[in-house]
Amino acid sequence: MGRLYPLEKTRNIGIIAHIDAGKTTTTERVLYYTGVSHKIGEVHEGTTITDWMPQERERGITITAASVTCFWSPSYLEKSKTKEENIQKEYKINIIDTPGHVDFTAEVERSLRVLDGAVVVFDGVQGVEAQSETVWHQADKYNVPRICFINKLDRMGASFEDSLKSINERLTKNAIPVVIPVGIEENFSSLIDLIRMEIVDFQGEKGEIVIRKPIPDNLISEAEKYRKLMLEKLSEVDEEFMNKYLEDNFTESDIRSAIRQSCIKYQFIPVYCGSSLKNKGVQLVLDGVVDFLPSPLDLEEVRGFDPKTNSEIILKPSDNEPFSALIFKLAIDQFVGTLTYVRVYSGVLKRGDVILNTRTNESFRVGRLVVMHANQREEIEELFAGDIGAIVGVKNLKTGDTICDPKTPIMFESIKFNEPVIWLKIEPKTKQDQEKMGIYLKALTDEDPTFKIKVDPETGDTLIGGMGELHLEIMVDRLRREFRVETNVGMPQVAYRETITKTVEAEGKYIRQSGGRGQYGHVVIKVDPLERNKGFEFVNAIKGGIIPDNFIPAIEKGLRETIEKGVIANYPLTDIKITLFDGSFHEVDSSDLAFKIAAEIALKDAVKKANPIFLEPIMKLEVFTPQEFLGDITGDLASRRAKIEEVLDVGELKKILAKVPLAEMFGYVTILRSLTQGRGFSYMEFYNYQEVPQYLFDNIISNKQGIKK
Ligand code: GDP
Repeated sequence: MGRLYPLEKTRNIGIIAHIDAGKTTTTERVLYYTGVSHKIGEVHEGTTITDWMPQERERGITITAASVTCFWSPSYLEKSKTKEENIQKEYKINIIDTPGHVDFTAEVERSLRVLDGAVVVFDGVQGVEAQSETVWHQADKYNVPRICFINKLDRMGASFEDSLKSINERLTKNAIPVVIPVGIEENFSSLIDLIRMEIVDFQGEKGEIVIRKPIPDNLISEAEKYRKLMLEKLSEVDEEFMNKYLEDNFTESDIRSAIRQSCIKYQFIPVYCGSSLKNKGVQLVLDGVVDFLPSPLDLEEVRGFDPKTNSEIILKPSDNEPFSALIFKLAIDQFVGTLTYVRVYSGVLKRGDVILNTRTNESFRVGRLVVMHANQREEIEELFAGDIGAIVGVKNLKTGDTICDPKTPIMFESIKFNEPVIWLKIEPKTKQDQEKMGIYLKALTDEDPTFKIKVDPETGDTLIGGMGELHLEIMVDRLRREFRVETNVGMPQVAYRETITKTVEAEGKYIRQSGGRGQYGHVVIKVDPLERNKGFEFVNAIKGGIIPDNFIPAIEKGLRETIEKGVIANYPLTDIKITLFDGSFHEVDSSDLAFKIAAEIALKDAVKKANPIFLEPIMKLEVFTPQEFLGDITGDLASRRAKIEEVLDVGELKKILAKVPLAEMFGYVTILRSLTQGRGFSYMEFYNYQEVPQYLFDNIISNKQGIKK
């Protein structure tokens, strides 16, 4: 069976929002409306829709799926008489789940990477909130075109104008309404479509019936004011449209095509509004998704590189190209096991194909493919270029992996994730849970690349690491709720790093020559500090076979192991360049082991002589508080070594922007609550690593020893 929906009629979108802005309610409505007008079973005749388990029919399950597929034809188009004609008008929309939490930057970023456009939901009472700002800027980073939806206009205190103003002031001047509300708060009744200049009413139990009618006289001037704004902005950004506008000779479809082009270029961001809860306006947002957000074809080309030669490979988003896809989420499903969500960039993935995982260079067979609909999974035979779906039950795949046609290996720039900045000891409450805990922790690390597990080599404890206290709390909670593993956790430990500040030379000798075969390893190295975030660099400057080539890998291995273990307080070393430039060997006694040990000895000595320091994770902090507590909060922050950068007015609240060492911030949520009588709140995310002040150097060493005991 071929493609039912051409690529230009596919939309991969995310709905992104501040927590509580109404993302869940809006998504539910989207699934409802798309389900009402489209019965999957009708269209996909010949394909099987497996009704997996009765529980799965419950809507809640797929709302949280990594991607849900639905179908929509613009609500302003007349329905045709035949099914075929109606299908012709339909677009396929894949809604990719994007978490709203700032702590999960990795999750947000990897979902943003695979989507082509986004709907950003705002609370019509609050306007732009802290997290909407963060997510917005993350979407900027990946150049995601978007449309806005100002939700909750029925709520007390809602204001369309103020919300729009806060978007224009804090996010972008290019956000321009294409729809305005009629009435507000409890009088919010319907919308005006500025493109068609019609009132749009929503009737039926869930607002599923869309009725269009002329604008009454008393609303005409307001509608014209906003329509003019829209048309003028379009003329500003689209020359072709400007000419038509000046001649007053343009059609509805001219407006749509001008909006579409400038929306994709991020020069015009259409603003919609309504109330998801009161079933008003969501269908128009869906119209906006299909009319204005890009299709995978708008990507034009897909860039990756050849894993062997590193040369660039450019593919087209077309079914005729070799297959390539990016894995953006692994989910564990209680019923079918691992679901690996992929976004196909080029070519076709068929059931039964043998596919290469570029990272591991291993091939695997694709057993089953599924896509999720609002309340069921559909088994499918193939996924086409631009599609999103899931492979069932494959092991050894990770988020961020590229999979492709083995004949054309390609690697997409893998999504870069930060190393954990915090670690916690974790143990199961009961011995029986030991094994289960191991299995599910491993599964969670596959799902979330910023979540890590390791075993403390000295104590044998299992440690979990992540991007912040909240991140780890949520993981522990998921273990308990999703997998029924109860655990105890220890105190959080900051992931410090060690580095050096001076160039020095050092020698390492490992020589044992008493009786029998001896040991002989001897190296001389130079260490140089590197800039922040440069990691580790090894240079082999041995000339004339002073040390034979075959021992060099053992020396490098000794150095790498020491880098990982650390020297001063067992924190990994970073930002260091090591040059091996001298040494000697013994014809009989030299061995890999002897050279490896010699390298370790040399590096330990070098680090101790090179004025070692610690680096610590610095967090970006936003605190929101009523004015009256501002002094107490800034005073408290100062005692936490925070650098306060700005204090802004956000509505009635003050917003403090600061950078602060993670080590000073454990339990801050509780402290802030008590400082502000429960009214303050904060967001924190990793910023970078910076030098720990000298006066804390000894503290870190003794703390670490304290933990080890
Ligand atoms: P999410 O956290 O962004 O997924 O937000 P939800 O969809 O869960 O909504 C948060 C709260 O706002 C819930 O209590 C919803 O019932 C409510 N809500 C969502 N949309 C609207 C709306 O349009 N009007 C009103 N009054 N409440 C809404």
